[in-house]
Amino acid sequence: MTGDKEKLESYSVLEKGKKVSFGNDTPTVIKGKGTAQLKEKVKAGNVLYVDGLKHNLLSVSRMCDQGTKVIIQSNGCSVRDLDTGETVIKGRRTPNNLYIFEEGQQQCYLSKDDEHWLWHRRLGHLSFSQIRKACKYQAIHGLPDIKIPDNTICKSCQFGKQTRTNFPEKEGSASKPLELVHTDVCGPFRTRSPRGEEYFILFIDDFSRMVWLGLMKHKDEAFEKFKAFKALAENELDRKIKCLRSDRGGSLPQMNFSIFVKNME
Ligand SMILES: [Zn+2]
Repeated sequence: MTGDKEKLESYSVLEKGKKVSFGNDTPTVIKGKGTAQLKEKVKAGNVLYVDGLKHNLLSVSRMCDQGTKVIIQSNGCSVRDLDTGETVIKGRRTPNNLYIFEEGQQQCYLSKDDEHWLWHRRLGHLSFSQIRKACKYQAIHGLPDIKIPDNTICKSCQFGKQTRTNFPEKEGSASKPLELVHTDVCGPFRTRSPRGEEYFILFIDDFSRMVWLGLMKHKDEAFEKFKAFKALAENELDRKIKCLRSDRGGSLPQMNFSIFVKNME
């Protein structure tokens, strides 16, 4: 992967370029691909051109696919030709744990991760202000002087702090009262009401969010409660209930309701 188009031979534009994202999570479009000359006899095929990429990244898997062996050791790395066994490129490891191929003025990174984001993840997604504090007091052995990046929004941190996911787009909601009524039966509860009820049924008007509640001694009373609610609500609002929706069919005594719906038709 490179941000320098000049490096690529036999360059071709990728029409619907896929996107890649880096440490700051900003997606960048892959604009094209070509072949890059790494050394006199070494080429890397399928090198992607990503506009704005500041470093050249070399994929270990791609290098292996094109007939070389990549050896990564604690002090450095090397690329060997599988046919001849000859070491074609040598790289060194930096104090930031990156493996770098140096070629004159040009640098080619095996893996590059923004240092501040790397440390943010290493320290269990610690906030940058705390990382700065740790740098200031030299509280962590080996921690380099981390600067706070311009964009400190971390996707994983956001997800971690979120208590619930976004509400899905509301579907089929009502535009008038009684157009859609939600219902649910709850219970049995351990503590009964003074009159001995241990269930309740809810009717919620989707449009107004008005809630009616009926207490019940048994689930079977749900249908009677519905009839009472229906008569009351329809009389009060002078309109008919068009749709009754229950999320858990099992909690409502199905039989009575289906007979009732048939009689209404
Ligand atoms: Zn984070």
